[in-house]
Amino acid sequence: MMRAMEIYEHPTFRMACQQFDLVADHLQMPEPERDRVKYPKRALTVALPIHRDDGSTKVFTGYRVQHHLTLGPTKGGLRFHPDVTLGEVAALAMWMSWKCGLMGLPYGGAKGGVTCDPGKLSKTELERVTRRYTQEMIPFIGPQVDVMAPDLGTNEQVMAWMMDTYSVHVGATVPSIVTGKPVGLGGSLGRKEATGRGVGYLVNRATDTIGLDISKATAAIQGFGNVGSVAALSLARYGVKVVAVTDAVGGIYNPKGLDLWGLNKHVASARTVAGFPEAEPITNEQLLVLPCDILVPAALERQITAENAAKLQCRIIAEAANGPTTPEADVILNQRPEVFIIPDVLCNAGGVVVSYFEWVQDLQSFFWGETEVVDKLFRILETAFTQVITSSRKQKLSMRVAALTIGIKRVQEAKRIRGLFP
Ligand code: NAD
Repeated sequence: MMRAMEIYEHPTFRMACQQFDLVADHLQMPEPERDRVKYPKRALTVALPIHRDDGSTKVFTGYRVQHHLTLGPTKGGLRFHPDVTLGEVAALAMWMSWKCGLMGLPYGGAKGGVTCDPGKLSKTELERVTRRYTQEMIPFIGPQVDVMAPDLGTNEQVMAWMMDTYSVHVGATVPSIVTGKPVGLGGSLGRKEATGRGVGYLVNRATDTIGLDISKATAAIQGFGNVGSVAALSLARYGVKVVAVTDAVGGIYNPKGLDLWGLNKHVASARTVAGFPEAEPITNEQLLVLPCDILVPAALERQITAENAAKLQCRIIAEAANGPTTPEADVILNQRPEVFIIPDVLCNAGGVVVSYFEWVQDLQSFFWGETEVVDKLFRILETAFTQVITSSRKQKLSMRVAALTIGIKRVQEAKRIRGLFP
């Protein structure tokens, strides 16, 4: 068993396994059952040759990992980033399983990725990578098998190309093959905003819980893509002053608060927050330890580590990114009860919840208004937040272990009830 799983060797996969083991110990899960619940069901690696615009050929590597198929199709994002590896994708697929379990969605987790830098590809090259990846994935995906969505480095346009490639193959339009599509192609109203909006909702609930006046709070946000930028606006609507933002290129800081509308305009043309007027430059390292009430990691994994965890000066960590806090950092933060963590599987779940709504709408060809989407989203997040905080307090568990326990238990129970074939 262990030998086979060595293909996933990667610090992020090890981190996901460590988190799982903590919960399995807490649940006193028997050893053979652990392996069955923990390890991904299947994985595919593909070579993606494409024509570059200059006429040359380049081969990229693509991955897809489906963690479990016990509760329905698998669901999870597609990432385009230079550091994508099979092990990272496998860890992200595991987290998707626990997230879907926690939210009560009829899905297993999955994740995909292509090792490429989308910023260095032309639009036509990006389209060729996307279409070739989708073509290679055809034996592995389907609306009842595995449904993809945007993640780091991918967006609505990428989902539209995927849906088109799959539909051309099938010979009929199949919107339910991906979520996070443009609304005009069967996407859901409120999907693009869902993850960041959910972050805002849950931060508001967290401030209630710890007795912090949200209208006087400040926030620092790492990552200003889909999730970070919407989270910033959503927090601002609750009265939060966003004082610092970083992205892959640079960062900005203004203790008086950043003008978010101006910043969005700047990013639309400059493609980075760096260089925004009326702010000082700031690095990622500085942002993470900045005095502020709410810290929102919304970029990459393993940003809050044993090196900086003791130095954080925030009251709330809202994990908009997947896996931003290492298990070593968790040990330190568990000794700092003044820091309230909204763990990733809860904090960024708004995205998959509205992806689920999109899939349901596509299967029924019956579309909802945005108010209905947002109302249903907030109800599901509210239930999950209440379950996690109640379990954390009653059983004296960290918010992370409480959240993961609910998600993992659901998968464990489904596997037990279905039995083992043959
Ligand atoms: P995105 O590609 O739209 O934006 C990513 C942002 O992170 C960009 O601003 C980029 O410049 C920045 N970034 C990249 N490397 C960085 C670095 N080293 N330091 C600082 N900033 C860096 O991606 P996204 O969809 O906003 O996803 C962000 C995170 O949220 C990821 O962890 C993703 O898995 C998670 N997430 C996304 C969704 C979703 O619906 N898109 C849902 C759940 C979780």
